[in-house]
Amino acid sequence: MLTVQMLGNEKVAVKEFPDPEPEGSLVVVKIMASAICGSELGVYRRPNPMEHNSGHEASGIVWKTDRPKHLREGDRVVLFAQSHCGRCEHCRAGYWILCQNPSPRRYPGNHSQYVLLDEELCLPLPDEISFEVGALLGDGIGTPYHAIKRLGINALDTVLICGQGPIGLSATMICRFLNAQVIAVDINDYRLEIAKSIGADYTFNPQRDDVLEAVREITGGLGVDKAIDCTGKAEGEVLALNAVKRRGRMAFIGENTGVTINPSAQLIHKDLDVIGSWYFNASEYEEMIRIVRRGVPIERLITHRFPITEAQKAFETFASGKAAKVLIKPWG
Ligand SMILES: [Zn+2]
Ligand SMILES: [Zn+2]
Repeated sequence: MLTVQMLGNEKVAVKEFPDPEPEGSLVVVKIMASAICGSELGVYRRPNPMEHNSGHEASGIVWKTDRPKHLREGDRVVLFAQSHCGRCEHCRAGYWILCQNPSPRRYPGNHSQYVLLDEELCLPLPDEISFEVGALLGDGIGTPYHAIKRLGINALDTVLICGQGPIGLSATMICRFLNAQVIAVDINDYRLEIAKSIGADYTFNPQRDDVLEAVREITGGLGVDKAIDCTGKAEGEVLALNAVKRRGRMAFIGENTGVTINPSAQLIHKDLDVIGSWYFNASEYEEMIRIVRRGVPIERLITHRFPITEAQKAFETFASGKAAKVLIKPWG
């Protein structure tokens, strides 16, 4: 089979790899669509190579099984990104991503024609939902949905969403679905245009606009009710903290390892609730299916599709910023 290898320094290779064989509860899934995630850019740009690839958002068909408990060959599935023990406190609560004892991956990453994984990681994909949308029903939709749910965003809220990459755009789309008023911010005008087209009420580019001043005007001087940072950049995080109103709520989603904040002014004296939010709870998958069934046009987040043989071009397109969701199609 073909799989992608991340070589480092913005290079990827497509290489032959032995077809996986099922074993016990480990099943072989034929990948039909695999989405590139913003979190992969770190691996793509760093100098050192990876043994395989960082793909972790995909959908496919159960292809070969050995002794599965409930899956059948031919089942359509969405792949959950991380293995889990099923027994620890967090697993029992559905927070598989927080598992205390995750087992290492047995397969080369989802940018592949086939992967091998435990059947428990295969979430059912209803027949009427395409594989392309299915590939977004993991990280792509689940991560913003989980944060939005934890923030309790509703139709009365004005929400600031910093960063309109795929996660930020998904957040904009879901907040729109919930009838919240959305202020979308990015330094990339291409992505602001998409944000506008999928329902952002206001779009601002901080390289041009005074976003805090605009927020004050829109909210009558109060600040936004809720804010989400999807940039993973200090500027976006600080803007979100500054734009949110007293007793408001803010979520960090974008991965970052350092930012300087002023706890007195930005947190304490605003009586602020700040959360970190990672991936989603397994029980929220059914809710995401309902979001799709209610007609939220998830497919509009997909701007590019490439066959696996053009994986280099897929990553270059994604990294250019002139794209939202980029899909790798292992079978063309
Ligand atoms: Zn991801
Ligand atoms: Zn566990």
